[in-house]
Amino acid sequence: MARSGRSRPGSAGPRGLRVAPIAVRRCRARLPGVSDRRAACPRVASASVDFDLSPELAALQETVRRLAQDKIKPRAREIDTTGAYPQDIFDAFRDADLLGLCLPTELGGSGAGILGLTIAIEEVAKYSNTAALMLLLTRLPTGPILIAGNDEQKQRYLPGIAAGELRCGFGLSESQAGSDVAGMRTRAVPDERPGHEGDWILTGTKCWMSGVVQADWYTVFAKTGDPASRAHDSITGFIVERSWDGVSVGNTDRKMGVRGVDTGELLLDGVHVPKENVIGEVGGFRLAMLGLNAMRPIVAARGIGLAEGALMYATEYVQQRQAFGHTIADFQGIQWEIAKVAVDIEAARLLTYRSAWLADQGKFTKEYVPYLSMAKYHATELAVRASGLAVQLLGAAGYMEDHPTELWYRDARQLTIVEGTSQVQLGLIGRGVLNHDLWWD
Ligand SMILES: Cc1cc2nc3c(=O)[nH]c(=O)nc-3n(C[C@H](O)[C@H](O)[C@H](O)COP(=O)(O)OP(=O)(O)OC[C@H]3O[C@@H](n4cnc5c(N)ncnc54)[C@H](O)[C@@H]3O)c2cc1C
Repeated sequence: MARSGRSRPGSAGPRGLRVAPIAVRRCRARLPGVSDRRAACPRVASASVDFDLSPELAALQETVRRLAQDKIKPRAREIDTTGAYPQDIFDAFRDADLLGLCLPTELGGSGAGILGLTIAIEEVAKYSNTAALMLLLTRLPTGPILIAGNDEQKQRYLPGIAAGELRCGFGLSESQAGSDVAGMRTRAVPDERPGHEGDWILTGTKCWMSGVVQADWYTVFAKTGDPASRAHDSITGFIVERSWDGVSVGNTDRKMGVRGVDTGELLLDGVHVPKENVIGEVGGFRLAMLGLNAMRPIVAARGIGLAEGALMYATEYVQQRQAFGHTIADFQGIQWEIAKVAVDIEAARLLTYRSAWLADQGKFTKEYVPYLSMAKYHATELAVRASGLAVQLLGAAGYMEDHPTELWYRDARQLTIVEGTSQVQLGLIGRGVLNHDLWWD
């Protein structure tokens, strides 16, 4: 950021986390041995960094917190056990107007932005990462359309998401191409039929797609250039409707956690896609990457909420459980473990809220990637650590289905894999430092 000359995070006014402009005047103090007036330490006449949520965001947090406690907490275990899609939770989100949180008001959303969605997901993830995923899916497939789609596409596909009348999925991964998206084999070739100039024919198989069964439409990426090319401009995004000829759902996965929202294959067999459904430009794969950059705080929120839920539960348990004439909580070794995770939760929240604030200002291009990636990395690794500690603090009870700890632990494991693994995030952060996008001078 220093090299690009752009402002650093913390320098402009965000929606909910306001950072007031700093008025400075020179103070009399001099640095030792420095006589140049320009080196004088500035006196800070009025400085404030406001870490409070805006009243609107605080009200949203309170509303979702109550909904999560009343409707989601009692259902979390059953959703995991049956694996059935929790339509009642979807309906509760719709009734509370939470499905359009990150969509603009002119498209039927509530305009709460990525920060609003982040705060809502944090609350929900305290009890169920499946429910948190349902909220996340209002943004992952819609992101590329919001970033690069045209007005007609936005009007056709997005208000239905906000209203809970439509659902969508995101098709980037293939069995041989997860982190290495350039290895995708799904192909789009020009439709040669007369009258179909500019249209495309899509063929291929997308896999591990969350919500594939329930979705009405999909954001799908396919190679439009040389199939052997690894260049990003050989890949294009398309909107594909479930009801079209050649579109079907293949196998669904038996998975370790986050049950209730299926992941599975989307089969594309010679699907005719009109030119109107190309997202942005042909070869405009960059938008998918931008969409994923903007998703980092939203995925991070799933980790933070899970860590908070797990730590609170385990803390209450050890305050009751007796051993050696004390409660488990009386042991200093236990207190230190609780403290370490508490520190990490607050660090993750700060990273995540800041990254949401950046994303809401459109700051998700390359120079901001380290800030976005470190939120996702830190929060999701924390989720694994916190839920592991929770299992440990409950002992045998934590390993059994009588308590939610083993469920949190299983759910947490996917968070360090999805939407850019921890290793991929570390690579992005490391490159950011090497490029001086993240620099402290
Ligand atoms: C529950 C779940 C839901 C999902 N939902 C969706 C969805 O809705 N849509 C979608 O498109 N995809 C989805 N995915 C797929 C997910 O995005 C991929 O799993 C992820 O991108 C990783 O790809 P991969 O599984 O092929 O792992 P691989 O890319 O094969 O990686 C395997 C291991 O190698 C490491 N690795 C890879 N490259 C590097 C590198 N350059 N440097 C260091 N280490 C590296 C990885 O970090 C990982 O540890 C989902 C996955 C899961 C588990």
